[in-house]
Amino acid sequence: MKADGYGLGAAKVASALSGAGCRHFFVATIDEGIALRKSLPGDAVIVVFDGLMAADTAAEFDAHSLTPVLNSPGEIKSWSHHATNGGNRSAFLALDTGMNRLGLSPAEVEVIAEKPEFLDGIEIACVMSHLACADEATHPQNSQQRQLFDALRAKLPAAEASFANSAGIFLGPEYHYDLARPGAALYGVSRGCGAPEPMQQVIGLKAKILQIRIVDTESTVGYGATRSVPANSRLATVAAGYADGYLPSLSNRGFGFAAGVKVPVAGRLSMDLTVFDISNVPPNAIAPGDHIDLICDRQTVDDVADAARTVGYEILTSIGSRFTKHYTGTGT
Ligand SMILES: *Cc1c(COP(=O)(O)O)cnc(C)c1O
Repeated sequence: MKADGYGLGAAKVASALSGAGCRHFFVATIDEGIALRKSLPGDAVIVVFDGLMAADTAAEFDAHSLTPVLNSPGEIKSWSHHATNGGNRSAFLALDTGMNRLGLSPAEVEVIAEKPEFLDGIEIACVMSHLACADEATHPQNSQQRQLFDALRAKLPAAEASFANSAGIFLGPEYHYDLARPGAALYGVSRGCGAPEPMQQVIGLKAKILQIRIVDTESTVGYGATRSVPANSRLATVAAGYADGYLPSLSNRGFGFAAGVKVPVAGRLSMDLTVFDISNVPPNAIAPGDHIDLICDRQTVDDVADAARTVGYEILTSIGSRFTKHYTGTGT
C-alpha cells in the first residue's frame, strides 16, 4: 500500500483487498500507516517497512496499532526497551540478504544470535528479507539470497517468514514462505517475471481531447520543434502533460489509442498538454471532448513503461492528482 497504493489510492485499494480476505498490509512510512489504519478493520496488521526511523516513535506505533519492521540493532534495542516497559511486543525483523538497503547484516544477526537478550520482550511476528533480482528469473542472486535467508533465520528464534515481492512469487513455491508481499502484481504490472504472467490490466488512463486541428502546410509540433508533420495531418491536443505524470520521456515515443486506433505522441510533451497525431483515425470517429486512452487493454502499464524507458512502478506512482479516479470494483 506504500506510495498511496502505488498512486492508485491506498484507502480504496486496501478496503477492496480487506474485503477479499487480505489481513496483512505493508506501507513505507509511519504516516502512511496512520492514514491507512482508518480504512481497515482493527484486526488487520499494518507493517511499516521504514521501522522506528531512528526516532522515538514507538509510542506512536502503539497508538495507531502499527507493527514496525526492525531494521537495525538500534531499532531492536528501542523496541525491546519499549516492549519490556509495557508497550506492544510484536514486530517484524528485516534481514539484509543482498540489497544493502535496509535490515540486519549477516554480522549483526551473528551478534544477536550470540546475545539473545537483545530481543528481550520482543515477539518476532515474522522475519523478512527482500530480493534484489527477482525480475530476472535465472539470476543466480535469487537462490543465493534465499539460502542466506534460511541460514540467518536458523540462528534466530523460530518465527514465520516473508520473502517474496511480486516477481519473487513467480520464482516458485520455495520463495513463498508464510507471507508474500505483492505490490506491482496487484495493479497488473507484470514485467519480466520470466514465467507465464497471469496478471490482468486493472487500470485504465484516459485524457480528454481539447482540440483537433488540421495542419495547413508541413510544419512542426510543440516545444523545440522536434517533430515535423506533413500538410493535412490531423492532430489532437489532450489535457494531460508531464505535470500529470505522463512522463516527458514519452515525447515522440509514446502512443495512445483514439477510437481504437494506435496514435503516436507528436513532439515534446508540455506541462499540461500532449499532442497526438491522429491522421490514421477515421475523421468522424472522434471529436473534442472524447478521450484518448493512454493505458488500456491494448496498451498495458508495462508497454507505457517500455516506451518511457522506465518501469511500470514509476508510471503508476507518477499519475497526477488532476486525473479523476473512478473505482469500478464492487463495494468501493
Ligand atoms: C515495495 C516492496 C514490496 C512490493 O514489491 P513489488 O515488486 O511491487 O511486488 C515488497 N517488499 C518490500 C520490502 C518492498 O519495499
